[in-house]
Amino acid sequence: AGDLRDLPSLTPGPAELADLELLLNGAFQPLTGFLGAVDAATVAAAGRLADGTPWPAAVTLAVPEDLTKEERVVLTDPEGVPLAILHIAETWQDNVSPAGFPGGDPLRASETTSWHAAGRVETLALPEHGTFRRLRLTPREVRAELAGATTLALATRGPLHRRHLGQLRQLAEKLDARLLLMPLIGEGHDDALVRALLAVRRELPAGTLVVPVPLIERPGRDLALAAHVAAAYGATHFFLEPAAGAEEAARAGAQALPLTSGQLPIEPVTPEPWAYDESVEVWRPVSKIEPDHIRPEPTEAELAAMLDRGEKIPEWFTLPAVAEELRRANPPRHERGLTVFFTGLSGSGKSTIARGLADALVERGGRTVTLLDGDVVRRLLSAGLTFSRDDRDLNIRRIGYVAAEITRHGGVAICAPIAPYAATRAEVRRMVNAAGDFVLVHVATPLEECERRDRKGLYAKARAGLIPEFTGISDPYELPDDAELTIDTSQLTPEAAVERVLDLLVAGGWVRS
Ligand code: ADP
Repeated sequence: AGDLRDLPSLTPGPAELADLELLLNGAFQPLTGFLGAVDAATVAAAGRLADGTPWPAAVTLAVPEDLTKEERVVLTDPEGVPLAILHIAETWQDNVSPAGFPGGDPLRASETTSWHAAGRVETLALPEHGTFRRLRLTPREVRAELAGATTLALATRGPLHRRHLGQLRQLAEKLDARLLLMPLIGEGHDDALVRALLAVRRELPAGTLVVPVPLIERPGRDLALAAHVAAAYGATHFFLEPAAGAEEAARAGAQALPLTSGQLPIEPVTPEPWAYDESVEVWRPVSKIEPDHIRPEPTEAELAAMLDRGEKIPEWFTLPAVAEELRRANPPRHERGLTVFFTGLSGSGKSTIARGLADALVERGGRTVTLLDGDVVRRLLSAGLTFSRDDRDLNIRRIGYVAAEITRHGGVAICAPIAPYAATRAEVRRMVNAAGDFVLVHVATPLEECERRDRKGLYAKARAGLIPEFTGISDPYELPDDAELTIDTSQLTPEAAVERVLDLLVAGGWVRS
């Protein structure tokens, strides 16, 4: 270990660290490391490694180009603690997009490089980051606990409601199986999911295990990969909702793998349909219910709308403890964190409207508001940055990071940078959406009007060539096609512009009328 310090090191991105944990603890067996180009391609195309072994998803590591000449690289956690040595067997450039990540994955560390390194990973230490550590048993520990019992595994990104519990109890009895619940925790804000699954354990047979798995979502490959992990944990059967395969395929298109027993390492088990019988007020198999006694269960969208409005999820549908976790994870809109992000040319009116909105919200009360004005941010948070593309992007990411944290804590962040690049705006939307809601307002005042106002004298300077890379004059502004609201201020008073944004927030339920 003495020479570890002499090796170059790399902190993989959150998604890669999650993969690394599963490689190191054996959950991704038979994989022993990150995949090379040929394996990644055959996995993406056919759900198999190059040698024919079924394997559903590309597990790859992006590296900066200067590491491609190395033989060994130390992989560290976000705090710099060494986790593993990667023995580089191959470096390759991305000419296949790993399954499920067309056009690159924002969670990967080196998203701007297309270089990857493949090879065995040698364990130095198992990761210690992440919540619910004590529940995150290794496959060896889970297998020891199961001691060879027939085991039905269920992998999920959502909570289990009363119907699922009935189906699970029925299947556990029929198969004489233990149950293994695997909450799939993605990017670290899935604590509520784990708590919601712990909360239903007492309704399930004794000995039911809850083991959170840091499995990043890979559309079209998600359940197949989870089944492989379940097999590594010692499960013998895998719970599959009848529509699961079709739903995955619909979301992922051509990249989806069929979820048939030939493709899965353990036996898929589809539950019998269950429903709520109104006449006796219990959940039971549909085959036992008179058709006109079936109460339809709320759809995902209906549940989300109920949570948005702050309505109680009915007790006939889910356990109160689960409803409480859902409510905490999705507070009613008027209590939920929100980022209102203004984008537009300099002088279009962003700051003026943002300031007016902040004042109006504070006057109404009930909300904590932080204004992240473009110019103010540049004097403090982003002092020293230029207007090059890279620095502009970094500026927006910093604003996005702060806005996401404000949003996570239930506040309202109002941002008013120019934010000329669509990809960066989309990145901020993603960051914020992991924590709460995001509303994009395009202040679409025409360039001629902004230039005529020339409030800060900047357009005159830009035209005279004194400011290079000026948005709208000598640098691009990519028009948003995803704005929740578009405002042209050329025919509008500032008060009326603020009113439009407020109306949107009231209509959406974020602000009470
Ligand atoms: P930005 O923040 O987009 O650079 P500013 O808000 O600093 O823009 O400047 C916009 C200018 O346009 C201000 O002088 C403002 O008074 C004027 N203006 C005129 N009509 C409006 C309107 N409806 N909304 C916002 N600003 C307006």
